[in-house]
Amino acid sequence: MKSNRLHTVYCVIPILLFVSCSTNKYAATNKVYKMQAKDYAKTISAFPPIAQSIDSLAADSQSWVGSINFGIRKPNFVILHHTAQKSTDQTIRTFTVKGQSEVSAHYVIGRDGKVVQMVNDYLRAHHAGTGRWGNDTDLNSSSIGIEIDNDGFEPYSENQIQGVIKILAVLKKRYKIPTANFIGHSDIAPSRKPDPHDFPWKRLAQKGYGLWYDEILNPPPVEFDTKLALRIIGYDISNISAAIVAFKRHFVQIDITPVLTPSDKLILFNLYNKYL
Ligand SMILES: [Zn+2]
Repeated sequence: MKSNRLHTVYCVIPILLFVSCSTNKYAATNKVYKMQAKDYAKTISAFPPIAQSIDSLAADSQSWVGSINFGIRKPNFVILHHTAQKSTDQTIRTFTVKGQSEVSAHYVIGRDGKVVQMVNDYLRAHHAGTGRWGNDTDLNSSSIGIEIDNDGFEPYSENQIQGVIKILAVLKKRYKIPTANFIGHSDIAPSRKPDPHDFPWKRLAQKGYGLWYDEILNPPPVEFDTKLALRIIGYDISNISAAIVAFKRHFVQIDITPVLTPSDKLILFNLYNKYL
């Protein structure tokens, strides 16, 4: 009798596993996501907070009283990427694998314009890496990362750009993200990253996502400091050649040499005044 029951159990388990695997191939990693999210929820709801006391102060010199006026931190930037992958499936696999890179993004947009969300907007995805924009050196904490599925050379499909615009509209409204704060990975990591390549930034700016320069450009004064202007816009100027290339990837595109031509300087001067 006992062995019969065991036999039944051993038969049922593989069937259940097969059913769950065939209905959702991401069931295992979804489970890991839920467990990790639960852990972070514990950190947020701990009363008093865990490991936030001031070690250099005596216990009787610090206390905890919960305020009733607070909210959850919100993203203030959107950073766009291209995946450098061949399919959404491949991208999803990369973002669900525990390994060397351990990268992720909040959203992935396929070539067909379909959107896959992979991290809650309120959580920190690993998409920005080491980078800087203005004085913000932890863009993963302050931004939403959007990965556009693209191998790094192919053009973006119209469906995909439409998908990007739809997400940006929602995010801008939902989190009150300033127009200037829609930027690319190459903007925040000029020495490391070239993505998103040849992106239609002007088209996005016309819709209110990111800034663009005016049609009519005034010449800058002779004392115009191009390095300072790049810094004011947000670029990390510790490697000035890389900063110039990143600026040109975003705003010039037809030429990305690490030198500012007279026409590049007109664009830079115009944008610098917008960012001031
Ligand atoms: Zn990137």
